[in-house]
Amino acid sequence: LSNKLDRAIKTLKGQGSISEINVAATIKEIRRALVDADVNYKVAKEVTDKIKDAAMGRDVLTAVSPGQLMVKIVYDELTELMGGEKKDIVIKGDPAVILLSGLQGSGKTTFAGKLASYVKRQGRNTLLVACDVYRPAAIDQLKVLGEQIGVEVYSEVENKNPVEISRNAIDYARKNGKKVVIIDTAGRLAVDEQMMREIEAVKSAINPSETLFVVDSMTGQDAVNTAKTFNDRLNFDGVVLTKLDGDSRGGAALSIRAVVEKPIKFISTGEKMDALDLFYPDRMAQRILGMGDVISLVERAQQQFDEDEAKRIEKKIRKNQFDFNDFLGQLEQIKKMGNIKDLMGMIPGMSKAMKDVEIDDDAFKPVEAIIRSMTKQERANPDLLNASRKRRLAKGSGTELQQVNDLMKQFDQMRQMMRKMNKLSQTKGGLAQMQ
Ligand code: GDP
Ligand code: MG
Repeated sequence: LSNKLDRAIKTLKGQGSISEINVAATIKEIRRALVDADVNYKVAKEVTDKIKDAAMGRDVLTAVSPGQLMVKIVYDELTELMGGEKKDIVIKGDPAVILLSGLQGSGKTTFAGKLASYVKRQGRNTLLVACDVYRPAAIDQLKVLGEQIGVEVYSEVENKNPVEISRNAIDYARKNGKKVVIIDTAGRLAVDEQMMREIEAVKSAINPSETLFVVDSMTGQDAVNTAKTFNDRLNFDGVVLTKLDGDSRGGAALSIRAVVEKPIKFISTGEKMDALDLFYPDRMAQRILGMGDVISLVERAQQQFDEDEAKRIEKKIRKNQFDFNDFLGQLEQIKKMGNIKDLMGMIPGMSKAMKDVEIDDDAFKPVEAIIRSMTKQERANPDLLNASRKRRLAKGSGTELQQVNDLMKQFDQMRQMMRKMNKLSQTKGGLAQMQ
């Protein structure tokens, strides 16, 4: 008997699932939180649709509340949407060439220095190339960084042709035993046709093993549009998200990844040369979750769901439609709260009646097993339960026929009591109206 009960409880545990009402309310809140975290609206909608699919019908272990489970689902989906695993850059060729692109001020030059330092620490002989031919100060900026990290910087002060400079730099690298060449380019303040043509020309002339698009995460929605334009022209290999040390909310990571379908490979979190990190989708998911405060939103939505459920039950009682499904639903609720008296408190009018009754939680285990053994129709329509069906229930749930009969009696009494309370409140209401 005990074995059978255990099995019944196990299936029971597996059967609780996140319901539709629950999800709908939560999804709306999550979408708002994502938009607050700078995720593009269209992307937020796609994400939440996926979350909804993932959440519907997922099993709820009694140890985890549906709210916590939702958070986990959201976290998993965000991680997955940002690429799941971290992706490294491809360093291939002799020399391997890495080309940087992006708008002015996005952090290209700073990142060039960081990347050079990173590659150098891997034991590779590295060359930085200054290809920003419009601002002489840009060459100096790169030289200062190069000196700081001990990496040579190639530049041609008089030459204004970035294609030539990069070709010459690669020749120079070959002759001087440099294994990795990092090319820093010029950007404009906004997307600009000449800049695009120039970087396209550099890319096709030198055929880099890695073309990276550098973008300022603080620019929010604009970051997505810029990424799309650059990707349409350059078909880059990866994204570098900079300035994540500020109050950027990180939502750009999700939007960019979703819109251009290219992995984010690095994040930059400061002006210092060591403030470079590989991009970990799970950590970014945490950041977005934390920033949008999705966790508390989910919890609030969960609470709302509980209230809605209580109202729904109350309505069913009023219409004399309380059935075994509702009864089981109520049992689920107690288990979540861990206390049977609390459940009774949730059934309107029951809290007073149950005040002095001592009930231990195990008392309900056979009850649950019996209800689980009922068919859908039987649960919705308890009057169907004749003698032979009751015998079947006892067998299926590993209980005695007497226990099934007791449950039926109790359930009947409960319904009668509810009916009486209904009549009472209706008469009262009626009298009150007549006065
Ligand atoms: P470029 O025009 O794309 O080459 O951009 P720069 O590398 O010159 O950077 C523009 C400004 O942003 C500079 O003042 C940098 O110090 C700053 N910057 C770059 N990356 C970061 C970062 O990750 N965090 C912060 N806080 N500032 C950064
Ligand atoms: Mg620069």
